[in-house]
Amino acid sequence: MRNDFARAAEKIARSSRLAVLTGAGVSRESGIPTFREAQDGLWARFDPMEMASERGFLRNPKLVWEWYEYRFGMVAAAQPNPGHLAIAALEELVPNITVVTQNIDGLHQAGGSTRVLELHGSIRRYKCFSGAHTGYTRDDLAAQSDKPPRCPRCGELMRPDIVWFGEYLPEQVMRDAYAACLEADVALVVGTSGVVQPAASLPYIAQEAGATVIDVNPEDDEISRMADIFLQGMGGAVLPSLIEAVRNMRQGRS
Ligand code: NAD
Repeated sequence: MRNDFARAAEKIARSSRLAVLTGAGVSRESGIPTFREAQDGLWARFDPMEMASERGFLRNPKLVWEWYEYRFGMVAAAQPNPGHLAIAALEELVPNITVVTQNIDGLHQAGGSTRVLELHGSIRRYKCFSGAHTGYTRDDLAAQSDKPPRCPRCGELMRPDIVWFGEYLPEQVMRDAYAACLEADVALVVGTSGVVQPAASLPYIAQEAGATVIDVNPEDDEISRMADIFLQGMGGAVLPSLIEAVRNMRQGRS
């Protein structure tokens, strides 16, 4: 691990284009549960597939809206953890960084990362059911008492701007994510089990295009086995010391 840690720091210190690929694990230390873990208490009897699909929404829009209100409450109360902050601090050390996240919580941006591609959308944004009108915030809808509220422009039901089961990922975001992986010299993967496609293919695309893949995860899984360097541990513990080592290397060199 010591040797792998030094190798990883060296690779990042020499990197000029870094892709940081993150999943639900990077937010665990901020207290954000995984999808299924959010099915506790009152919500335990509902199927998460029903809560995150067009079909489920059309069947019971009020219920789905309230589930997202519940999840929003958790996200709104959360703070970026040392892992998010360390990823943001990398921007001082590497010229080009793109964070590509499967998370919908906005915690990378809250932690200070400036270029973040949200593959699965954001729980902090809303759009109308037809998809024609997007980019609404909670404040835009706050005056309405209906649950869900209606689109201020077309009157359709509003929904969170999140990619649900069976839906396509936003096309431009996906294109930018592929480009970031193809151009990267290092791909730093944090907190993803690598099971949700197409996000799971991104580390492979980066590696085939020549990037060194570094995986940070407490569990040994699919991604850790394909990675060139596996740093086993929690993001909030591994990343701050990794970034500190990168900082020392870069200062030693300049
Ligand atoms: P996942 O739940 O399938 O896997 C999480 C991974 O994180 C696991 O490999 C686990 O070992 C690892 N992990 C756990 N604690 C960690 C820590 N402290 N540091 C680093 N790694 C840690 O997550 P996924 O691969 O992102 O796929 C789940 C899907 O659910 C995604 O599509 C995502 O959009 C969605 N989701 C998002 C959030 C969020 O926005 N925070 C939360 C739950 C689920």
